[in-house]
Amino acid sequence: MATLEVKDLHVAVTDEETKGQKEILTGVNLVMKTGEIHAIMGPNGTGKSTLSQTIMGQPGYQVTQGDILLDGQSILAMPVDERARRGLFLAMQYPAEIQGVTNAEFLRAAINARRPADDQISVMAFLKKLDANLALLDMSESMTERYLNEGFSGGEKKRNEILQLLMIEPTFAILDEIDSGLDIDALKVVAKGVNSMRGANFGSLIITHYQRLLNYIVPDTVHVMMGGKIVKTGGPELAKQLEKEGYAGLRDELGLDI
Ligand code: ADP
Ligand code: MG
Ligand code: MG
Repeated sequence: MATLEVKDLHVAVTDEETKGQKEILTGVNLVMKTGEIHAIMGPNGTGKSTLSQTIMGQPGYQVTQGDILLDGQSILAMPVDERARRGLFLAMQYPAEIQGVTNAEFLRAAINARRPADDQISVMAFLKKLDANLALLDMSESMTERYLNEGFSGGEKKRNEILQLLMIEPTFAILDEIDSGLDIDALKVVAKGVNSMRGANFGSLIITHYQRLLNYIVPDTVHVMMGGKIVKTGGPELAKQLEKEGYAGLRDELGLDI
């Protein structure tokens, strides 16, 4: 079993206009284990993407206090590719377009980066796995020969993030608003992909605005984030409560003025 622990995490960014430090995360605590699916819900601008980018190690997010531990070891000093090699994966809210690298090339390199030099995946094994996952996600083979995300529609990008998830088979996957801009059919496909990964060797942190996705990927634990920290944790019923009462209802319940 693997564990991902976020401990009293404080994160600041440099404000472009004032050049001053702006604190976004104000003490996030979270413990995830493989075999579990956690959801984070929260209003816009509350720091959900900041948390996911910081866990993955994207530059520009300064950890001013606290730690992030993978199996008890701090990963703060590790660059993104090292964290990926150790089993972390982030599906970004706004996936980047990369010119000159096809989707298939990217996937093969990403898989091989996690395997020892003397045990790289064969072309045959790669193509077999790719075909199976394309079929599962109802994606066309032609998508894999196109440059990564270039000219993909919003929905295609999100589906492609799930293809990466299924191919790379990370230990922990953070999915940042994977449901945004998806119609109901695409949402079901995305959920099918994530659910197919469920099991003892996989954990996921699903970030969403809406309860809808959580009808299809039922989480074990739901956290609500407001004002840069987790203000409430519960089971799937917490998402339903939010859907009914809104974030304003929870603010009143907790007596928060954020
Ligand atoms: P969420 O994902 O919950 O909508 P974000 O993490 O994207 O929230 O943003 C949280 C807050 O931090 C917002 O007010 C946003 O404007 C600000 N923020 C995030 N990244 C930066 C940045 N690089 N520079 C300045 N402000 C940022
Ligand atoms: Mg947002
Ligand atoms: Mg966001």
